[in-house]
Amino acid sequence: MRVLAFLDGTIADPDASHLRVDDLGVLRGDGVFETILVVDGKPRELGPHLDRLDRSAAMLELPEPDRAGWERAVDAVINNWSGGKDMALKLVLTRGPEFGDGTPTAFAMGLPIGEKVLKQRAEGIAVVTLERGFEPGLAQRAPWLLLGAKSLSYAVNMAAVRYAAREGADDVIFTAADGSVLEGPTSTLILVRDHTLVTPPSTIGILPGTTQAALFRAAERAGWSIKVEPIPVADLADAEGLFLASSVRCVTRIHTLNGQQLKDSSALLRELTALYESEY
Ligand code: PLP
Repeated sequence: MRVLAFLDGTIADPDASHLRVDDLGVLRGDGVFETILVVDGKPRELGPHLDRLDRSAAMLELPEPDRAGWERAVDAVINNWSGGKDMALKLVLTRGPEFGDGTPTAFAMGLPIGEKVLKQRAEGIAVVTLERGFEPGLAQRAPWLLLGAKSLSYAVNMAAVRYAAREGADDVIFTAADGSVLEGPTSTLILVRDHTLVTPPSTIGILPGTTQAALFRAAERAGWSIKVEPIPVADLADAEGLFLASSVRCVTRIHTLNGQQLKDSSALLRELTALYESEY
């Protein structure tokens, strides 16, 4: 079950071809995207996702996204979905065809949630730390590197996940050149210590996560302390809990770090999941 919609609200056949072969999204990964979780027909964090699409588009100097058009496309996908209760909704915006009239390519597509995601949500994940090769100050000095943009150029992120799989792990925590942690290839890192939730600041060149933000909002209301500050790699192994948060996987527990089993954080996961779900 997949549903494809364009920004005028029209529905199209997801098995037919719709992109030109000279689309710069295809040729160069020159575009941006979002992935939104929809549960029972309700998109989660739609406003923050559309805000982040605007931010990523601005970083790539793409035309400003047509918000009314995206909302139309989102509604069209949701109204035509007859799959399961949960759906992953992808928004894709590229610079358009290289030899076109400058019109960007834009579409929304609803997809089922894969078995692997459900398994990771339920059982947790083994993670390895891998170097990302930049230091936290670079993002501010070198905006052309697009650090922290949700661009379509995710080949490095996917290569890191494949590398982790060869090491027997499910996912990755990227580390910066100064020995602090960044994020996962498709997720935000959250560390728990002393009834405090900690995540690194997005200014170091990582994506500001909508799931992390929703969880922190709920946690703060419930009396947790929250901190957005650099996390040294050395702090990971001693944490009460380590989690990767992302829209589709929600809050996922890390049970193994670089081959070493971590403290059992199942009870913490239940607590954090309840907090996150209380937002909806
Ligand atoms: N960091 C990266 C690099 C991502 O690709 C994602 C999401 O896919 C996230 C963090 C988590 O963001 P969100 O919670 O908004 O899905």
